[in-house]
Amino acid sequence: MKILVPIKRVIDPYAKVKPLADGTGLDLGNVKFDINPFDEIAVEEAVRQKEKNSEIQIIAVSIGGAEVEEQLRKALAMGADEAIHVETTDQLDPSIVAKELQAVTEEIQPDIILMGKQATDNDNNQTGQILAARLGWPQATFASHVELGDKSATVTRETDTGEETILLPYPCLITTDLRLNEPRFIPLPGIIKARSKPLHKRERQTTDTPRVAVLDYVAPAGRSGGKKVGSVDELITELKAKGVVS
Ligand code: AMP
Repeated sequence: MKILVPIKRVIDPYAKVKPLADGTGLDLGNVKFDINPFDEIAVEEAVRQKEKNSEIQIIAVSIGGAEVEEQLRKALAMGADEAIHVETTDQLDPSIVAKELQAVTEEIQPDIILMGKQATDNDNNQTGQILAARLGWPQATFASHVELGDKSATVTRETDTGEETILLPYPCLITTDLRLNEPRFIPLPGIIKARSKPLHKRERQTTDTPRVAVLDYVAPAGRSGGKKVGSVDELITELKAKGVVS
């Protein structure tokens, strides 16, 4: 059984980023990058499944510039068997990423695609859904529990009204939610072993350009200081003075 795990290199979600003064981009001078946290959960889940079934082969894939190899090596250190780097410095959007991942999927024919529900840098939450639709595969988004059987996966997913458990015949696509697992700490031998695991490079297979353009980056307005009031009456007077209530 093959599990394909697409991973995206993103700005460390705990990093403080600022827009460039002219608003054309972000100041990435001293910013750390990591695997998108939801993708790290996907790699962890694939590795846990492999620990239960050694027949599973895990292939991590990332689309981007030379720098994404750092995140692919981390996925290999976590336990992925091999990695694919789709080399490009082009601007990407979910529709392009989904098309590229479709090309990889058609070539390596995985039984399962296990990927993040969203990338924390742009919060699109679109790529998995577009990819599943393009492939015509059943999908389970926001997975909080995954059981892999011989012919199908049983996935519990989080919805606004509670948990839903669904059965998906292979091949299928699953996107991960935060509660699925907690990714492991990578021990040193894993990092060393990852250096000799195969990392294949390939070119982009599609030529589409993004249909969405970012016009401007602006930092959110800073918060003004709060004020403590001594009573409900004082609170109402303050709110009226601000025009929040009449
Ligand atoms: P998004 O739809 O942009 O929120 O991303 C959802 C998921 O798509 C991510 O969690 C990744 O699994 C995958 N993805 C997005 N961009 C890339 C990329 N450049 N390379 C590989 N996978 C990606």
